[in-house]
Amino acid sequence: MELFADIIIDISHSRLDQTFQYRVPEALQGTLEPGNVVEVPFGRGDRRTKGYVLRITEYSSCPPEKLKEILRIETDLAGSESKLTALALWMRDYYGSTTLQALRTVLPFRQRAAQKTKRTVALRLSGEEAAEKLDFFRRKHQTARARLLEALLEESVLPWEVVTGSLKITAPVLRALEEQGVILCGAEQVYRTPAVLRMLREESGDGLPDKAVQEAGNEKESSGASRGVRLNEEQQSIVDTISGEWDDPSCCRYLIHGVTGSGKTAVYMELIETALERGQQAILLIPEISLTYQNVIRFYHRFGDRISILHSRLSPAERYDQFERARTGDIDVMIGPRSALFTPFQRLGIIIIDEEHESSYRSETVPRYDARVTAQKRAALEGAKLVLGSATPSLEAYFEAESGQSRLFTMTRRATGGALPSVTVTDMRGELRDGNRSILSRTLSEKIRSRLDSGQQTMLFLNRRGYSGFVSCRLCGHVIKCPHCDVSLSLHRNGRMICHYCGYEQPAAAVCPQCGSTYIGGFRAGTQQIEDLVRQSFPQARVLRMDADTTRGKDGHAEILRSFGRGEADILVGTQMIVKGHDFPRVTLVGILAADLSLNAGDYRAAERTFELLTQAAGRAGRGSQAGEVVIQTYLPENYAVTSAAAQDYPAFYREEMRYRALSGYPPVGGMMALHCSSGDPEQLAVAAEYLAQFVRKLAGRYQAVVIGPADESVAKINDIYRKALYVKHPDVRVLTSIKNLTEQYIEINTGFQTVRVQFERQ
Ligand code: ADP
Ligand code: ZN
Ligand code: ZN
Repeated sequence: MELFADIIIDISHSRLDQTFQYRVPEALQGTLEPGNVVEVPFGRGDRRTKGYVLRITEYSSCPPEKLKEILRIETDLAGSESKLTALALWMRDYYGSTTLQALRTVLPFRQRAAQKTKRTVALRLSGEEAAEKLDFFRRKHQTARARLLEALLEESVLPWEVVTGSLKITAPVLRALEEQGVILCGAEQVYRTPAVLRMLREESGDGLPDKAVQEAGNEKESSGASRGVRLNEEQQSIVDTISGEWDDPSCCRYLIHGVTGSGKTAVYMELIETALERGQQAILLIPEISLTYQNVIRFYHRFGDRISILHSRLSPAERYDQFERARTGDIDVMIGPRSALFTPFQRLGIIIIDEEHESSYRSETVPRYDARVTAQKRAALEGAKLVLGSATPSLEAYFEAESGQSRLFTMTRRATGGALPSVTVTDMRGELRDGNRSILSRTLSEKIRSRLDSGQQTMLFLNRRGYSGFVSCRLCGHVIKCPHCDVSLSLHRNGRMICHYCGYEQPAAAVCPQCGSTYIGGFRAGTQQIEDLVRQSFPQARVLRMDADTTRGKDGHAEILRSFGRGEADILVGTQMIVKGHDFPRVTLVGILAADLSLNAGDYRAAERTFELLTQAAGRAGRGSQAGEVVIQTYLPENYAVTSAAAQDYPAFYREEMRYRALSGYPPVGGMMALHCSSGDPEQLAVAAEYLAQFVRKLAGRYQAVVIGPADESVAKINDIYRKALYVKHPDVRVLTSIKNLTEQYIEINTGFQTVRVQFERQ
């Protein structure tokens, strides 16, 4: 029997899903599978080219003798690539994209511009140290050295050719500078990792010396130090359980629910060590925001140059190189944000996802994949362990643990023994009734004053995340919600209130439908107003503000945090930016000014996000030796997201939230899929979205799925592109996949969609 294969070639250049058919030679029949990487003759002169097998068929589209034959399956280092291609095909089918989009997301591909410089000269000093050195060279009239240092201050890594060529630096000079520890000469592989570290250090803005990297090596020699801290009982039992089941394919998914500071990182390190001891490799995903020098350096201390890091500031060529090092076995551990999931290791042993609840694990470009779900798929394909960790697990992750699909570990204590902060909830309705119209409650004001008196620091956090302009009553706390979707309505400029799921509208209310008061309206406080108020109320306080406005400059962000960290201010006012990943030991008070803003964000995850933010913000207080206090200000003090965050009781929150999700059929109880439509032409968009809704409704009738919308997205226009969305709900996610597939076909054949983009997103 003759077999044929559809092959996609050269994913770095082509723009479309163009496949070519090849004959499968007899020797490969039975072995060749979709996903395999093969070598085929291509183009003029039959150049040997790499291709990806998408499909194997028994029919050819033209006379078989006209087809060329596959030369061979790439087996040497491409084993991982075949598995990754299979993963890409799964992503294409599950999330919806072209094959090319999926392959490009998953496979490392070299861009045309990518040129690997073989030898390089890199600066090893911090900016300050280098400036001092430069001064010194100038005073001594060592002009060649000064010239090189000037160039390196501009560009911290220079190609060898440039240094010896246009800069005219001689080999003896380079040797001398290298011996003094000023520069590092070498092949790219050698400097590349420190270059990533340097970038991180610049970003996080602390002046840790490069020596830390060297010490990582020394520490290893001194006995046992590379093993890190001694694990406590909780930590050890997690490591023991997972290592004990390492070779058991039926146990492969784990969730570590550990309060902030419980020592999850030490557990991750030990698990990575376990993989390495077995000759396997490890991937650790962390949110971009936690990719700070301090965090990454801990891993360097432990694993030295066996690790590499991905970072959004790496150039495509640098990324490609990191993947290449992984593929060839140069490194064993990859740390990075969601795309690090696709590191092409040959023998992947474990994937760890830290801060698993973070929304940055969802990609916003097609295919709109969720790294947690995709990691699960990759782990299954490659027989690797998957470990999720969080202080505030996503409902999805906890639901899986509850239903036995993964194993749950709970860590309840801070590893350093410190106490969790004590939390007070203040009822802002009561403040108003008692005549306090200020943004600050009396309790919070008193506590700020006492911190000022004792020289401790305060963080004031305005939770604007997902704020969509809801309307609430300041007297009774009532929030106006969509009668169909149980999410809050958003107030628009035209004075109407709109639901972003179903498009329901009503005029803005002038009186509260609950209590009849006229204290009803949108919430208007911004960080600027809070800063002004704080300055008025506490004239002696030094105040810093951190939000999108004050952090415009390249370093604005780091500069403010550094200054606060050095104790140059008493109070830091900010948005959610200030909540994550920063340790300020002198902060003993955290005030959360509007818990309600995220609670009424107008989407079904609002309560989950609120619980998460309140818990994480509370975790900022009392990281040092003094105990911390947290004040949560809210108009809805009895809301379960607020009360359970105050009590630091995740299971209580989970139970309530699951009731709501079940009642409304939202994930993880039911499946939900969004269809995001966008176009530069609002009329065409409206028509297309309506047609799409009609088509999907017809399909939905067949499957008994529920269709909601179309409605404007919460941000209805970005860069002159108008946006609408449609939602489909069904308890079985496979039904959603079928609806997606049929809808994709409908869009493809329907010319009305040529000016309208439709993207699918699994919720
Ligand atoms: P998490 O990632 O859970 O928030 P970390 O791993 O950052 O927590 O640990 C918090 C602090 O506790 C760190 O300073 C860490 O060095 C320390 N720590 C972790 N494990 C131990 C242990 N077994 N003994 C003593 N200190 C520990
Ligand atoms: Zn009211
Ligand atoms: Zn609605």
